[in-house]
Amino acid sequence: MGFKSDIEIAQEAKPQDIREVAGKLGLTEDDIELYGKYKAKVDYNLLKQERVSRNPKLILTTAINPTPAGEGKTTTTIGVADALSKLGKNSLVALREPSLGPVFGIKGGAAGGGYAQVVPMEDINLHFTGDFHAIGAANNLLAAMLDNHIHQGNQLGIDPKKITWRRCVDMNDRQLRNIVNGMGKKTDGVTRQDGFDITVASEVMAAFCLASDIADLKARLGRIIVAYNYQGEAVTAEQLKANGAMAVLLKDALKPNLVQTLEGTPAFVHGGPFANIAHGCNSVIATKMAMHFADYVVTEAGFGADLGAEKFLDIKCRMSGLRPDAVIIVATVRALKYNGGVPKDQLNTENLEALEKGLPNLLKHVENITQVFKLPAVVAINQFPLDTQAELNLIKEKCEELGVNVAISEVWAKGGEGGLELAKEVVRLAEQEKEEELQFCYEEELSIKEKINAIVTKIYGADGVDFTKEAEKEIATIEKLGLTKLPICMAKTQYSLTDDQTRLGRPTGFRITVRQVTASAGAGFIVALTGEIMKMPGLPKVPSAERIDVDENGVISGLF
Ligand code: ADP
Ligand code: MG
Repeated sequence: MGFKSDIEIAQEAKPQDIREVAGKLGLTEDDIELYGKYKAKVDYNLLKQERVSRNPKLILTTAINPTPAGEGKTTTTIGVADALSKLGKNSLVALREPSLGPVFGIKGGAAGGGYAQVVPMEDINLHFTGDFHAIGAANNLLAAMLDNHIHQGNQLGIDPKKITWRRCVDMNDRQLRNIVNGMGKKTDGVTRQDGFDITVASEVMAAFCLASDIADLKARLGRIIVAYNYQGEAVTAEQLKANGAMAVLLKDALKPNLVQTLEGTPAFVHGGPFANIAHGCNSVIATKMAMHFADYVVTEAGFGADLGAEKFLDIKCRMSGLRPDAVIIVATVRALKYNGGVPKDQLNTENLEALEKGLPNLLKHVENITQVFKLPAVVAINQFPLDTQAELNLIKEKCEELGVNVAISEVWAKGGEGGLELAKEVVRLAEQEKEEELQFCYEEELSIKEKINAIVTKIYGADGVDFTKEAEKEIATIEKLGLTKLPICMAKTQYSLTDDQTRLGRPTGFRITVRQVTASAGAGFIVALTGEIMKMPGLPKVPSAERIDVDENGVISGLF
């Protein structure tokens, strides 16, 4: 359509030496570990020194229920940070690291898009600084120690039929979803059914991202439940004496990765937990480090606000003490039309009626942020090339009519320049006198069922929650383990406020069914599953890997 692809724009960029970028944060060459010219790790021990930033503001980017294509949260997060830089603010972006699985599976950027990207985008989307490999290694060390324990006499009495720990690899590979291993002779291990998850779905990833420091990481790893013994009691990584060595494998990975946006704004890209069975945002350490050095930190939560923002606030903020000063809710004409019932392949045609029909979805998310969590919010309309002026005006007018703050964002087409209106609104909200403090959706003292009920009624707008027999039994087990106080991590479809992905807009008169409840004791939350969640995705019929190539000069093509 005459637009440059994300990789073309990224390859034309002339990034600054990362030492220069670090300098904007007051970091010297001694403070950083260089990974080539454009990437560096920043030592978390700097957090122990006096804070550089006086009064840092944390801005959270979230979204309405998206279309299957993703609606531009990452793009907006990056563009707003660039716009804040243009306004003279010392700003920084904090994002998740992409997984290799989607890179080679379904085409779709994970480092922003258009003129709002982080670079070097190829490195970031590929091995980057090796963090995910380290996380995979730590996960698999634990798996190896577990099976070895059984092979060596099984002193802990682990029931091989009740092993919950799985191996992992950072690849979409359905062939590994269910496997049998330990076959062969007696010396070849104990034969059992097993399986792989994708690395980003590993509990090690979630624990890594929620850890406040290396000691906390070690403690979290130790609490991971890997199996149950013949008495039905939980067996942990600490009992296998694995957590110290796992933390060793993760010690360098735990240092946030510093890169930059196309416009030279510093960016931390660090950690990347799934947004369904985990909480879906970058590491606590990266966010804290960002706030240590910058005055404005813009960060993203995965999926729509019903999942991403809720978990960011109820899990990450609760555990870390972080408190956002303002929330950006990304909406697109396309996603609103989708929520108004337009099928995916017809989103490029103007349809004001469907757009208006989809608006209640946006308003529900705004209400959740402002009325449940009591945070100031602004709607960012992320403008796509085929949006019509009438469509953009309609959203803006409706928001203004209802007193909802709103700004059109053109960061994809124009970079920071296209985000100035939005950035000014963000500054206004973040710097105004606070009338209210962040309220969580539920208190941790409530029972597991009460907490889940609070989320589904307050955030999703459901009438209530039902539990399957299996879920009831699992809740009883978690209560017996003494883990009742942990916050809840909901695993639900991202496309609907309900647990049925075909019910779009703002449904009413529905209930949520929780089918499974498991404890991620190491991460520190209880996962409530409302449907089948795939922890090892497969490749599509035509994987994007088929189009990805490299030429004789080492120049990559086909990567977004
Ligand atoms: P999310 O973080 O919500 O999943 P991303 O920011 O990663 O979304 O964007 C998803 C895809 O959509 C990317 O390929 C990006 O280039 C594209 N995109 C985002 N915003 C726009 C826009 N305004 N116009 C065209 N394409 C866009
Ligand atoms: Mg994103």
